[in-house]
Amino acid sequence: MLRTAIHWFRRDLRISDNPALTEAAACGRVLPIFIFDPAQEIGAAGRWWLHHSLTALNLQLGGALRLFIGDPQEILPALTQQHQIERIFWNRILEPQQIRSDAALKKQLQTAGVEVRSFNGAHLWEPWEALKLDGTPYRVFTPFYKTCLTLSPPHPPSPPPPHTEWAEGNFGGAPLEQLGLLPNVRWDKKLEPHWKHGESAALDQLNLFLKQGLHGYKTGRDFPARTNVSRLSPYLHWGEISPHQAWHAVGKSLEDANHFRRQLAWREFSYYLLYHFPDLHEQNFNRKFDRFAWDSNSELLLKWQRGQTGIPFVDAGMRELWQTGSMHNRVRMVTASFLTKNLLQHWHHGRDWFADSLVDADLANNCSGWQWVAGCGADAAPYFRIFNPVSQGKKFDPDGAYTRRFVPELADLPNKYLFNPWEAPDELLRQYEVILGKTYPRPIVDLKNSRQRALDTYRVL
Ligand SMILES: Cc1cc2nc3c(=O)[nH]c(=O)nc-3n(C[C@H](O)[C@H](O)[C@H](O)COP(=O)(O)OP(=O)(O)OC[C@H]3O[C@@H](n4cnc5c(N)ncnc54)[C@H](O)[C@@H]3O)c2cc1C
Repeated sequence: MLRTAIHWFRRDLRISDNPALTEAAACGRVLPIFIFDPAQEIGAAGRWWLHHSLTALNLQLGGALRLFIGDPQEILPALTQQHQIERIFWNRILEPQQIRSDAALKKQLQTAGVEVRSFNGAHLWEPWEALKLDGTPYRVFTPFYKTCLTLSPPHPPSPPPPHTEWAEGNFGGAPLEQLGLLPNVRWDKKLEPHWKHGESAALDQLNLFLKQGLHGYKTGRDFPARTNVSRLSPYLHWGEISPHQAWHAVGKSLEDANHFRRQLAWREFSYYLLYHFPDLHEQNFNRKFDRFAWDSNSELLLKWQRGQTGIPFVDAGMRELWQTGSMHNRVRMVTASFLTKNLLQHWHHGRDWFADSLVDADLANNCSGWQWVAGCGADAAPYFRIFNPVSQGKKFDPDGAYTRRFVPELADLPNKYLFNPWEAPDELLRQYEVILGKTYPRPIVDLKNSRQRALDTYRVL
């Protein structure tokens, strides 16, 4: 009789290039499960994504996916005992809390006689592989990446396991709706036109990028109105695609492809940092910033969150986030700089808003992104580099297409004043029916003064 092994799906919601699933399938019949632990923090947009990804995965598995709700430390021992299952396979998640709970769970299951095997299904390199000559971790991206490139190259992606037999039987579990991942007030409907979920959608998105985005990626990736970026981040977060699939698909002959691979390596670097500095998501990487005199102003924070700052390029980004669950990387940097520098609000506030609203919300990437922009992170943008949202808009949204899309109340303004309507002559504003303070907010801060205030605050560190 075939033995049954559990494959515990977590952030690997795919069947191809899935090392743990491949091993489980090689051992016999596979019971595919997902456990929703309400104690785990997943933002609202992430929960929405997860709901639809689990639907897609279950369809792909012919309805075999079993869902459970609760603490894996209770569910897995009970499941293995009740059904005499001797093997569990999973792919690792390199987040500090998860590493701790996985270690405890592994020990508990092994003590009960269950074989547990965990795999790397989410990273191009293991975080302990690239170290400085003195054995300590890198703090700067470029030498980290150079060292990674000297390690064994990322393996080519593997196909789905052949002829997997999914276990049938009365294993219990809950219907998807019981996980309660969708919000009661259905604000998520607005996200629907922008995304498709699941492994085949991820592969479609990759193919679209190869056809339409990759060529010109190196420069085009900075322009939010262009279609040069891959939009793969939520799929990478939930493992609907593996980084190996993306890495190998682009090849290495083009400069654009190498630049894309470099961005995938930034994802590696974020996880690497979180692995070696496990309080990265909470503490300033540069502890000098513990003394930084952040301001605390909930009114300004709310205006930033709602895209009502009166600074069009910032508002465009914040509204893109609210309307689509995503924001272009260039604009993430500009909005984050505006919050932490011009408004002097703690990066934790930005981290939390992004964690709740981004469909690609990811502990490692989000925290390292915020720390990088705030100036307190590893290899961070120097504090004195304060993005000017007017010149950034003019440079990276030259014809204003992106800003006009998300700030339609300014859509008719000529380019010259689109990013700085407060400088437009009254007559011109009247002509285009823009009334500052009424049809569009006045700027909530003066860009020049707030920049100076940020620099002064920084200088006393
Ligand atoms: C303040 C701030 C917060 C961020 N929060 C997140 C987050 O929660 N989740 C997230 O996935 N990314 C985050 N990023 C990084 C980056 O903005 C997104 O990964 C990128 O915009 C996703 O779009 P894409 O897939 O089209 O990227 P592409 O340009 O197509 O890049 C391909 C992949 O490389 C990785 N990548 C690209 N840029 C970065 C980067 N700077 N850091 C780490 N990985 C990168 C992503 O996995 C991305 O999908 C954040 C950046 C900043 C400045």
